[in-house]
Amino acid sequence: MDRFIYYKMGLKELETIKKEGLKPTLLLHSCCAPCNSYPVELLNQYFDLTLYFNNSNIYPEEEFIRRLEELKNYINYFNKANNCNIKIIVPSYNEKEYRKNLTYLKEEKEGGKRCKYCYATRMKEAYEFASKNNFNYFTTVMTISRQKDSIVLNEIGIKLSKLFPKTKYLISDFKKGKGIDKGLEIAKKHNMYRQEYCGCYYSYINYENKK
Ligand code: SF4
Repeated sequence: MDRFIYYKMGLKELETIKKEGLKPTLLLHSCCAPCNSYPVELLNQYFDLTLYFNNSNIYPEEEFIRRLEELKNYINYFNKANNCNIKIIVPSYNEKEYRKNLTYLKEEKEGGKRCKYCYATRMKEAYEFASKNNFNYFTTVMTISRQKDSIVLNEIGIKLSKLFPKTKYLISDFKKGKGIDKGLEIAKKHNMYRQEYCGCYYSYINYENKK
């Protein structure tokens, strides 16, 4: 499937929701504040949103806390400014265990097999939570990232929707429709912390080696 078709499919779903005049629930798999900024602004118009900060990939723990705190600050601001009540759920953090499972893929380049495993793992855990807790929809903010292939992410989401049929997968490509620019603008306006590496130990080492 082509990126543009996925983008169009996502827009069509949003249009349908608008026509129905309902505000279904959506669990949004979230990483950092800059990646959440535009998707939250967009999706809040259509959904009753809950964020799920499922990111045991992030190394070290101080970095996990820093990204989470930045996200909390932004969502606090957003809730006040828009008179809404978006919550952030934070499942337990276990980077050691997460890294153990990634080790056999440590030589892979960023964007390769290791990353596909990483997206699928975090999305599956989040999707399972959405299904168990009767969310109407699930999606991930990761399609906004330039470094992450939205085709791969949407294929994972579609596959998972067959495992958890109670919760619909919202196809997305938040990069499109100037999503990247809008996200950058929000991040700049709020002087958000923007990390220098993707998240896992291997991406951290790679970043350190390049310094
Ligand atoms: S580089 Fe990013 S997406 Fe890839 S494995 Fe590491 S944390 Fe996951």
